[in-house]
Amino acid sequence: MKSDSSSNFIIYAVEIAMAILLLFFIFSLSRRAAAITAGSKDSSASAQTRFFPNSARSQTSSNTHFGQRPVIVLDSGHGGFDPGKIGIDGSLEKDINLQIARRVRQYLTAADVDVVMTRDSDTSLYGPNDNNKKIADMRNRCQLINEANPALVVSIHQNSYHEESVDGAQVFYYQNSENGKRLAEILQRRFDYVLGDANTRTARANDSYYLLLHVKSPIVIVECGFLSNRAEAENLSTEEYQDKVAWTIHMGIMEYLNTL
Ligand SMILES: [Zn+2]
Repeated sequence: MKSDSSSNFIIYAVEIAMAILLLFFIFSLSRRAAAITAGSKDSSASAQTRFFPNSARSQTSSNTHFGQRPVIVLDSGHGGFDPGKIGIDGSLEKDINLQIARRVRQYLTAADVDVVMTRDSDTSLYGPNDNNKKIADMRNRCQLINEANPALVVSIHQNSYHEESVDGAQVFYYQNSENGKRLAEILQRRFDYVLGDANTRTARANDSYYLLLHVKSPIVIVECGFLSNRAEAENLSTEEYQDKVAWTIHMGIMEYLNTL
């Protein structure tokens, strides 16, 4: 009798222990499942920020490459024989344009965007048989851009005016381009980061700039600042300010791509 009750007790204790183990196992499984679900939510959110929403990819127009990284063209204005605007402090527009473009490329490449540069050195795009270097340069830039068939083009420039007090950034788009206008407005708004309350200009339509007329993809011309204004010219020559401008342009491009 006594041995029976003690063996019953042992069986009972083993059953309790197994039930506890089972409960613990189920509990730990559910915790793991919850962690995996939360993890996948996080990664899909960051994928939307870093890459592009499905809606953008499903639009298989000629310049959104389905299932591929988007291609962007960065055009550094001028170069070589053509210095562009010459700053009040002697700085050359062509140099500042290239410095900023290279930094934008760095940020875009880190965000999985493919970048084509119209130039990556102090050169102009004309051939040995071209009589008019400037016209040949513009024509070749357009050809290079149209062959790349990019999702968008940002042409980087610096401005100048006969009154030194004029300053600030302004973005231009082709007047008949809805996407160009949208990109220009995003970029213009983003210059808040660089200019603060001084960013009062609005994106502006244009119907005569050569690039705006001849490039098929959405294109904007970003005039980052006035080299005729001493403070802005000095800022634009520093790495820190160039970096701010480049970050701003890259953020605008990402916003545009993420809302296609
Ligand atoms: Zn220029």
